[in-house]
Amino acid sequence: MDNQKIQTITLIPGDGIGPEVTNAVIRVLEATGVRFAWESFTVGADAFAQHGEYLPKELSHSIERTKVVLKGPVATPVGGGFRSVNVALRQQFELYANLRPVKNLPGVPTKYPDVDLIIVRENTEGSYIGREKEIAPGVVEAIKLVTEKASTRIARFAFEYARTHHRKKIDAIHKANIMKLSDGLFLDCARKVSQKFPTIAYGEKIIDNACMQLVLNPQQFDILLTENLYGDILSDLCAGLIGGLGLVPSANLGTEIAIFEAVHGSAPDIAGRNIANPTGLLQSAILMLWHIDEPIAAQRVQKALEYVYRQGKALTQDMAGSYGTMQFADAIIAAM
Ligand code: NAD
Repeated sequence: MDNQKIQTITLIPGDGIGPEVTNAVIRVLEATGVRFAWESFTVGADAFAQHGEYLPKELSHSIERTKVVLKGPVATPVGGGFRSVNVALRQQFELYANLRPVKNLPGVPTKYPDVDLIIVRENTEGSYIGREKEIAPGVVEAIKLVTEKASTRIARFAFEYARTHHRKKIDAIHKANIMKLSDGLFLDCARKVSQKFPTIAYGEKIIDNACMQLVLNPQQFDILLTENLYGDILSDLCAGLIGGLGLVPSANLGTEIAIFEAVHGSAPDIAGRNIANPTGLLQSAILMLWHIDEPIAAQRVQKALEYVYRQGKALTQDMAGSYGTMQFADAIIAAM
């Protein structure tokens, strides 16, 4: 009898390039030998058009059941329109830690070799929550929410991650010289937690200086501990250091539920052309394979990915190659 475990995963293909990169990644995942069952849902504008809801209730039930989500990017309108479903998902399932490893891939020429840093971004608070109101005509107020609970929780996550993954140093990134209360509280919490981890070096950098230091000498950084909006912006900066947004993965983690997605957005400028690079989502899927305790598959995909990049022949356009999204996935499968 076939007793192989079936891994049931909630899938959000997303929009823009989302369906293209998720299809490519699913094709690779299904070639690993792990058996998957996918529960797929639309969200955002498409879901609203179909069901009158931006986040369908069936999706929430599926996530509560499976506890693991693979997600493509979802567009959020600029200015007006509906609230970000990405932010809503992170808050609804208390996915308080956003882990974003940024590391050079072999064979990708960049100005910055030997980058190996991790952004640990607080995922539920800060000004990123988008709580704003017009208090008088022409005057708008935005809330930057910072709590001791969430700041301590994310600092502890960063230090525990450093300890278990043999990382040596954490820099808390802030603007507490200006936002003395909000970023000041974030720093206070990080300092307190740091005292419980004497083997891990702890430093602090003001965000503007951190940006310059990242561009001059990113190799000095190990883990960057940030509040929500700073982490969002620094992620794209760091993606640029190693070759672009097509490459960088992320995991949104809580106590029970995890959502794996690329750092990039829905890239409407290249959607529907089979040219998007699925590497960011594929590296997120590798994080997912570790998370669901499929280490052999995780290592197989990782090795195949590195092989394809080292060979440098089967790359997508953003990596100066000529392969399409699906052809790149097929090259990974062939390398496995
Ligand atoms: P974006 O990340 O979608 O694109 C920025 C640039 O990077 C574009 O030139 C794009 O072509 C390129 N790019 C991104 N991903 C790529 C890939 N896989 N392969 C090759 N090139 C890639 O950022 P944007 O244009 O600012 O945002 C577009 C939409 O995505 C917005 O609605 C935004 O709200 C949304 N967004 C969603 C998420 C998410 O779902 N987690 C994250 C970021 C942005």
